[in-house]
Amino acid sequence: MKYDTIIIGAGMAGLTCALKLSAAGKKVLVLEKQPVPGGFATGFKRKGFFFESALHCVDALGKGQKVRDFLVETGVAGGLEFIELRDLARIIYPQHDFVAEASRESLLDYFKHSFPQEKNNIDRIFAEFDAFYKHFDRFDDSRLPEWLKLCLTLFLYPRIIKMSCLTCEQVIVKHTHDKKLQAMVSSIWGFMGLPPQRLSAFYFLIIFRAYHYYPNVYVRGGFSRMFEAMANKIRENGSEVMFNTVAKEIVTDGRRCFKAVVTDKAGRIEARSAVSGADCFSTLTGLLDDEAVKEDYRKKMSAFEKSVSAFQVYLGLKVPAKALGMGRFMCFINSSYDHSASFEASLRGDYLNGIISAVDHAQLDPELVPFGKGELLIFTLDNYANWKSLSEQEYKDKKAQVARILIKRVEKYLPGLTDNIEVMETATPMTMARYGSSSEGAIYGLAQTVPQASINRLSQKTKIKGLFLAGAWTRPGGGVHGCFVSGSDAAGLVSKYLK
Ligand SMILES: Cc1cc2nc3c(=O)[nH]c(=O)nc-3n(C[C@H](O)[C@H](O)[C@H](O)COP(=O)(O)OP(=O)(O)OC[C@H]3O[C@@H](n4cnc5c(N)ncnc54)[C@H](O)[C@@H]3O)c2cc1C
Repeated sequence: MKYDTIIIGAGMAGLTCALKLSAAGKKVLVLEKQPVPGGFATGFKRKGFFFESALHCVDALGKGQKVRDFLVETGVAGGLEFIELRDLARIIYPQHDFVAEASRESLLDYFKHSFPQEKNNIDRIFAEFDAFYKHFDRFDDSRLPEWLKLCLTLFLYPRIIKMSCLTCEQVIVKHTHDKKLQAMVSSIWGFMGLPPQRLSAFYFLIIFRAYHYYPNVYVRGGFSRMFEAMANKIRENGSEVMFNTVAKEIVTDGRRCFKAVVTDKAGRIEARSAVSGADCFSTLTGLLDDEAVKEDYRKKMSAFEKSVSAFQVYLGLKVPAKALGMGRFMCFINSSYDHSASFEASLRGDYLNGIISAVDHAQLDPELVPFGKGELLIFTLDNYANWKSLSEQEYKDKKAQVARILIKRVEKYLPGLTDNIEVMETATPMTMARYGSSSEGAIYGLAQTVPQASINRLSQKTKIKGLFLAGAWTRPGGGVHGCFVSGSDAAGLVSKYLK
């Protein structure tokens, strides 16, 4: 057989898995329906302006951190320049406006300074977070076999279990009843697409540390360079990456064992194993050829909750965004302290009240835009249901209207923004569904609710021997770092299976 593993999808998870396996001497074939690698996290050019399709910034890519170390070890990092960001973002609330630096101490100081009466409670919140990180790191660093680690978690790392059973809000309200402080501690919720009231404390805490304690990173020239370098290295390792090629069917042998993948361009390709980095719904209830297994999955997955979708405006500007007042590369704008209300507003298409963020990548890398110009990416959470039934004309009109609302909201902080727009593109939940190949345009896979996060999350093993999952839909979850972990773990499962 020519291939050890076929990997469906050249997103972060698929590429990580392929890179790890190919570096270990396995013969891998990556199938990607788009003409470029990166999946959701790719980029595009319009009239000389380069835009990130999705990404704001990425964690765990700083010097000495896990994703960066992997890229160094696999020989991918050499041609890339990583820009480390000292600040996470400017964060705006009705009565607070602050810059969250990428530093635990400065965040702690800011909260204590703004809520002096809550000093002890703030210390308690951070102590609880740090106690979890201790257990999480010990679990992560442990060399015990995975099954043994999991069995011992309750005794050796009980805080992992504790945080897997709670929401983010439940952890914070134990220590403070101040609604504003509660909201500000959980400002990063938008990166996980669920408000603190519903968000798993486990995933929240992982993302909280990743974004608030350490510098995040931008890759000079755009994140696409990183994905291209990964795809090139997979080829250098003797494996293959086929773009513009769609996996149409996953073939089993009738005894629940993986056999082959049928593609639109290259026909049926056999391999010893496969990893799907595509949406878990399309993999397990669509691509699989075994009707009985598909039916089992249909029943199980009908109860699954997908993550939220998003609406984005990409603006090419006549001047740098900094000249209009964009003092930091990223800004979160909250119209209230009630994140639940803000989330509900996004779900029902109330674009005046959902959380928005604005990102200026050209502030980090001016060569992304023509000389002397600028750009801005405006992001808000959205709902597929707000878009799916519109006629072509209604869809077009709504896109323009929503873009105008969001631009106006940002213009309050960047006066003159409208007059300086040279290029504009928009992406709706329909775009996320179409280009991201994601059910209902879900941007972070399955929602990170308590029943769908941490140890409860969809397993990477499937009911089909030799078929594994990787990516945002499965463990541990969405985000480039999460998908790196998932791709890396999938490679481990494949290696074990191939033995
Ligand atoms: C708007 C937005 C903003 C975001 N911001 C951030 C951020 O700032 N930082 C961060 O870390 N993360 C962010 N994320 C999340 C992050 O982009 C994703 O979690 C991550 O990129 C998902 O990677 P993945 O490998 O799971 O899948 P994907 O990127 O979805 O890749 C799956 C790939 O599989 C391919 N595919 C699917 N079906 C088939 C098939 N049948 N045959 C062949 N190929 C197929 C698709 O074309 C795609 O390329 C954001 C996401 C969105 C949408």
